This record gives sequence, structure tokens and C-alpha cells, in this order.
Amino acid sequence: METGYYKNLKNKNGKYMNKIEKTKQEWKKELSSEQYRVLRESGTEGAFIGEYTDVTTDGLYMCAGCGNQLFSSDNKFHSGCGWPSFDDIENSDAVETRVDDSHGMARTEVICAKCNGHLGHVFNDGPRDTTGLRYCINSVALTLKPKN
Ligand code: FE
Repeated sequence: METGYYKNLKNKNGKYMNKIEKTKQEWKKELSSEQYRVLRESGTEGAFIGEYTDVTTDGLYMCAGCGNQLFSSDNKFHSGCGWPSFDDIENSDAVETRVDDSHGMARTEVICAKCNGHLGHVFNDGPRDTTGLRYCINSVALTLKPKN
């Protein structure tokens, strides 16, 4: 990452971490227009069209904006909702959540803890035998690094 700068800020767990801060112009230069719309403007990609929705490859899912390790394929499950779904995050510092009451709904937004990029939402209708959570994440906000 040659642009932007890191700022040592406390995350939600009170732990200091390097957060990346960039201008709109810098993000626009690095991201595709669809990545920018989702990550930086809290957009949502169309259901069932995302690159990773039905992918079962073993590997790690990184933030497409900053490379932060977010999800493991071990936690991916087929939810049928049309977006990649995970029942847990890779580590508790990887993402942060905040209340999103836009579009007349009360939802919990999931953002990357490192670059504050919008990833998707988390719902409590996930697998009952594990966490009960469904992290519903936009494919375009992720980059899969396959295990080899
Ligand atoms: Fe990020």
C-alpha cells in the first residue's frame, strides 16, 4: 500500500491497532468502481451474482480494500441467501459492527476493523449447531487467498 497512512487507534476491544486512512481519491484509484461502491459507500452487490457466493475452495478471505484477514473457508456455509455466508470471523479483531438503520431496517453492519470498509451485515439466523450467526458478506469486498 503506497498511498494512505496508518493511524494507531483503539478498536472496539480497547486494543490499539493500525487503522488505514485514505482519501476518497486514493481509494478510487485503487479499487474498481464496484469495490468502491460497496466498500466505501456501503453498497450491496446483487444477490447470487457475487464471485464467491458458491465457492467452496479452502483458503482465507481477505479484505479487498486492505488485505486484512477476515474469514476462513472453514467458517463458510451454504445459506442460500445469495451472498457468501460465514458463521464466524477469523479473529475477533478483524471486524467491527455497528447499527445500521438505513432502508427502514434495523441491521448490524459489518466493517473491516483495519480500513473501515463496509463488508456486509450479520444476522442471527445462522447455523444453530455452531454460532447461530450468519455473516452475509459481499463477494466484491473480499479476495480469496487459496490454501496450497
Ligand atoms: Fe479492510
